[in-house]
Amino acid sequence: MRVNGRVRASAALKQKYFKKLMNIIDEMNKSVMWWLSARYKENEKEIIASDSAASDVEKELKDLMKRWSKRFDEASEDIAKDFVKSATNHSTNNLKALLKKAGWTTNLKLSRKAQDKLKALVIENVNLIKSIPEKYFTELTTVTMQSITRGRDLKYLKDEIKKRYGVVERRAALIARDQNNKATSIIIHTEYEELGITEAVWKHNPGSKEPRHEHVAANNKVYDINKGMYFESAGRYVFPGEEINCGCTSEPIIPEIRGLQLKRIEQR
Ligand SMILES: [Zn+2]
Repeated sequence: MRVNGRVRASAALKQKYFKKLMNIIDEMNKSVMWWLSARYKENEKEIIASDSAASDVEKELKDLMKRWSKRFDEASEDIAKDFVKSATNHSTNNLKALLKKAGWTTNLKLSRKAQDKLKALVIENVNLIKSIPEKYFTELTTVTMQSITRGRDLKYLKDEIKKRYGVVERRAALIARDQNNKATSIIIHTEYEELGITEAVWKHNPGSKEPRHEHVAANNKVYDINKGMYFESAGRYVFPGEEINCGCTSEPIIPEIRGLQLKRIEQR
């Protein structure tokens, strides 16, 4: 019998989420690049030489953004739903296996209240995905306007856009990584609640690059799963994996074997 264990966020799931975001971002970028090339080819000299051309291009970029925002709106629902569903399956299966090892076979079925929490997670992810095209077009419009007012050619502009592309790519990576940790944490705590588990042990992730001191200090400490752990730096109670770039996780305290589990933790 293994009495202590935890569910970690799935690295494969994070990668899948990131890939989906990058697919649609790449599609958008290719389409915009194609448009810019065509626009410049039409009358490159005029674009570089006249001020009115800049405002024309700006307006056209706004229209393009509207079109892509709509496309992201449509795609975001599917991507977010699929992500939360996969994260829930991952959490449920791993939590069940973990509890089984501790001698507790459960039939974990999520209640209405728990389903509502998952719905809130979907909405949060939908909104994050929807924010991507705006971020992209803000960067794009800035470099395009600078390029035009400085009288630069299409090659220069394309190079500048390439440099800025990293900003959007990093944003997609952050969304995937952060939401994966956060969603797994929210789902797992919801499942604890459903199972009548009231306490968990904070587990700091030793692999994290810039760990928060308070998270390191919280390692192996017990907290109330309805509250989380109080951190001075946050000024409130937080859950493992909730704060940005936090890779901390939790170990559930099983009521039936609480004493044994706490003893094992003490021995660490
Ligand atoms: Zn942490």
